[in-house]
Amino acid sequence: MMKYISTRGMDSRLTGAQAIIQGIAPDKGLYVPEEIPALPFVPGEMTDRSYQEIAKAVIGTFFDDYTAEEMQRCIDGAYDEKFEEKEIVPITEAGGAFFLELYHGKTAAFKDMALSILPYLLTTATKKEHEDKKICILTATSGDTGKAALEGFADVPGTEIIVFFPNQGVSQVQERQMITQEGSNTHVFAIEGNFDDAQTGVKKIFNDRNFAVRLADMGCRLSSANSINIGRLVPQVAYYVYGYIQLIARGVIRDGDPINIVVPTGNFGNILAAYYAKQMGLPVAKLICASNKNKVLTDFISTGVYDTNRDFYLTNSPSMDILISSNLERLLYHLSEGKGPEIRDLMEQLESAKHYEVSAAIRSGLKDFYGGFADVEATNKTIGEMYRNNGYLIDTHTAVAYKVYSDYRETTGDRTPTLIASTASAYKFAESVAKSIGLPEQPDGFRYIEEVASGTGVRVPRGLKDLDKKEVRHSGVIEISQMEDTVAEALRTH
Ligand SMILES: *Cc1c(COP(=O)(O)O)cnc(C)c1O
Repeated sequence: MMKYISTRGMDSRLTGAQAIIQGIAPDKGLYVPEEIPALPFVPGEMTDRSYQEIAKAVIGTFFDDYTAEEMQRCIDGAYDEKFEEKEIVPITEAGGAFFLELYHGKTAAFKDMALSILPYLLTTATKKEHEDKKICILTATSGDTGKAALEGFADVPGTEIIVFFPNQGVSQVQERQMITQEGSNTHVFAIEGNFDDAQTGVKKIFNDRNFAVRLADMGCRLSSANSINIGRLVPQVAYYVYGYIQLIARGVIRDGDPINIVVPTGNFGNILAAYYAKQMGLPVAKLICASNKNKVLTDFISTGVYDTNRDFYLTNSPSMDILISSNLERLLYHLSEGKGPEIRDLMEQLESAKHYEVSAAIRSGLKDFYGGFADVEATNKTIGEMYRNNGYLIDTHTAVAYKVYSDYRETTGDRTPTLIASTASAYKFAESVAKSIGLPEQPDGFRYIEEVASGTGVRVPRGLKDLDKKEVRHSGVIEISQMEDTVAEALRTH
């Protein structure tokens, strides 16, 4: 059976279900599969299979402690009509690349792919492990994760979900998406502080043993819906495998031919899932890691030095405005010779000195990766050109990926068929998109959505329609010092 171990060397081996419940390891490491399993099928023999069938086989291979019936129920609950496209993940060819559209779920961003199945994986895990406490998901968000987690966990029996977002720190549309959330187990609070304050506050709550005891007395146990949870990472492996199979089905490649994969990267979760697909045996040549102006990863891939001593920029691809990519720790673990102790040492250096340099062994493992970046100006220009030349509308994050890919193709001449992870609907970042394709200025975020809709005719995702007319259900604004009491209070009244 597959076992999960901590990246920082702690001596215990967990089943998939146990690792999903735990979230983060007690030594602060992240859970990784002890060995990455091989693909459970020959891709060329799967061309007539649905997304659900592929996902069930891939996820089931990683979490083989779940029975086939349990996994089937998780898949059925997750990938159903809440996705606006029957294929779940349609692929569009444009500008010499294949866009893997991961944004047709409820919140119009790729985080729905994993957060629609995580609640099922988690509640199944609590049954398997005879965990009788209510699971309380705590999430700090800079915008996208919070809403996707709320939608995923809304009205899921045996769970409560609490989201903290920075007051005035998210876009108008993102805020409205969260504060209008329905579901009797959902709790949303604005905090008087920025995203780092929210994140630090949540981490403090996770590490407070006394608070855990207080919650246990109330019949609750905390868990995480962030991509540090292995239950969020594994479902993402499935769509890269599916994408490869679809390229065979379309006659773009033959089984066994290599492809490249481009991923607009923030916390390194999505591209790590592509790396796992490659390690399973999927014929992936280059993994192209695209960053915005916060290009820590571009520099790291070319030098082997991870350095966060630098300016932080706010860009129009905010889900990639990040200097510490947590999931990189998992890649370093897989590539290292020294394993746990070596990774613990690197992470301690990152905390104390804000930088580290990796070993020769890790550096040589990085040769499968190519890193590049695009600034705001290049991003907007790319959106405009893609729309004018191909009639295809892409969001700011996907535009970063396409720009980096175009640069890569130009400098290397590499013509390998390429999948680009398309991570959000253009409507999620309607203001930047509207301006990039030459539409006039509007007074607020909602008007930009209407303007892009009438200007392009592209369908507005259900979850973003008439947002300004929805009832506000969560209006709490709290001080950072009140976070713990707020959690206790929310859980007591439920
Ligand atoms: C979260 C997010 C990303 C970054 O993904 P990671 O897994 O954190 O690297 C990219 N684009 C969008 C739209 C996102 O919401």
